Amino acid sequence: MEVTIDPHSGFCFGVVYAIEVAERELAKDQRLFCLGDIVHNNMEVNRLKKLGLTVINSENLRSLRDCKVLIRAHGEPPETYKISLQNNIELIDASCPIVLYLQNMIHRGFIEMKNKNGQIVIYGKEGHAEVNGLVGQTNGTAIVIGEEQNFRKIDFSRPIRLYSQTTKSVEGFYKIVQLIREKMNSQSADGKIDFEWTDSTCRQVSNRSSQLRDFASNFDVVIFVSGKKSSNGKILYHSCLDVNPHTYYVSSSSEIQDSWFTGINTVGICGATSTPMWLMEEIGRKIKKNCP
Ligand code: SF4
Repeated sequence: MEVTIDPHSGFCFGVVYAIEVAERELAKDQRLFCLGDIVHNNMEVNRLKKLGLTVINSENLRSLRDCKVLIRAHGEPPETYKISLQNNIELIDASCPIVLYLQNMIHRGFIEMKNKNGQIVIYGKEGHAEVNGLVGQTNGTAIVIGEEQNFRKIDFSRPIRLYSQTTKSVEGFYKIVQLIREKMNSQSADGKIDFEWTDSTCRQVSNRSSQLRDFASNFDVVIFVSGKKSSNGKILYHSCLDVNPHTYYVSSSSEIQDSWFTGINTVGICGATSTPMWLMEEIGRKIKKNCP
């Protein structure tokens, strides 16, 4: 049986950078706190924990003093920087530059909307770490919408600036643009609306989707590897499933079932932007060993 690993799968540059920063710090003194999982992949998180990384949440941060805390690629709200300053915590900031840029854009939009009695709307997942960091740029006033049902939170008669969580789908974002525009138009007496949007979906994710479709269509069976908490993992898995119904979502080699490979000739292994290459290689070795 032929097993092929997608050369384009694996960590995006934001995650690669955060892990490199963590490894560099851990090599110095084997003690580093990280706000949340550094990547939505338990296998990789466990590897770094063995090197000395301790995962904390924002409540834990309040009780820490005189230590180093890593900010992962998702970024953090201004509150985190304030608490760290008060508690003499050295922040090792590995926020992804794309996320930082988006935070700045949203902050500028927030100032503009404040002067116009408008609203900042973020297409994303409520409570997601990146979204919390984005909402923090608006003093917590941004409206987070994930689907049409959340629309009741928006006042369509007032100005709107729309942004997206970086890992949301491009198609989903433009569907929201269309829906907001329709609702604003229907409520406008003079046909004028004040609505601007910024497509802030990350191309590391959106480009990955079409690459994965091409890849997945070439194999009898596709093994998609990703942590179950990864937002972009779920989106990319469905991209593969759309073109290849024999696609299986696994997080570790222990979830592989030999029965998936009965009577087939080719297997493609791919993953999300949070999937380590070493894990895909491990899974490839297991498939070759069990189903030669
Ligand atoms: S998916 Fe894009 S925005 Fe998110 S961490 Fe990776 S490179 Fe940065």
